[in-house]
Amino acid sequence: MATAADFERMLRGQGLRVTRPRVAVLSAVHAHAHADTDSIIGVVRGELGEVSHQAVYDVLRALTVAGLVRRIEPAGSVARYEARVGDNHHHVVCRSCGAIADVDCAVGHAPCLTPSDSSGFEVDEAEVTYWGRCPTCSETAK
Ligand SMILES: [Zn+2]
Ligand SMILES: [Zn+2]
Repeated sequence: MATAADFERMLRGQGLRVTRPRVAVLSAVHAHAHADTDSIIGVVRGELGEVSHQAVYDVLRALTVAGLVRRIEPAGSVARYEARVGDNHHHVVCRSCGAIADVDCAVGHAPCLTPSDSSGFEVDEAEVTYWGRCPTCSETAK
């Protein structure tokens, strides 16, 4: 489990000034994979007290631009954030409850899905969303 000192090091490593909201948001994203903005705000408020929505949005944007967190947005879902960055993994999303889980690269290394024709583009990333039902939802549907 990463500590506050680790998060401060990550921020500095990306040239970001260390602030309490930045450390709190980064730590919340590490602790709650695929959390949406509202849940992150809840966690950060639990730790720091009153923090504005805007402040948390701003920090999330800065962390995303710096590559410390990854923003995903499956169709029909609000934006989610995760700390697992840089490995081009994919996601499986439950159609019923919206639960999200990680799926490793489909085959081999990024982009892991070679297009049959890339129209001359140099492809370095593939973003795949698998849709289905999570174990809980498929169980209750029986
Ligand atoms: Zn589900
Ligand atoms: Zn993920």
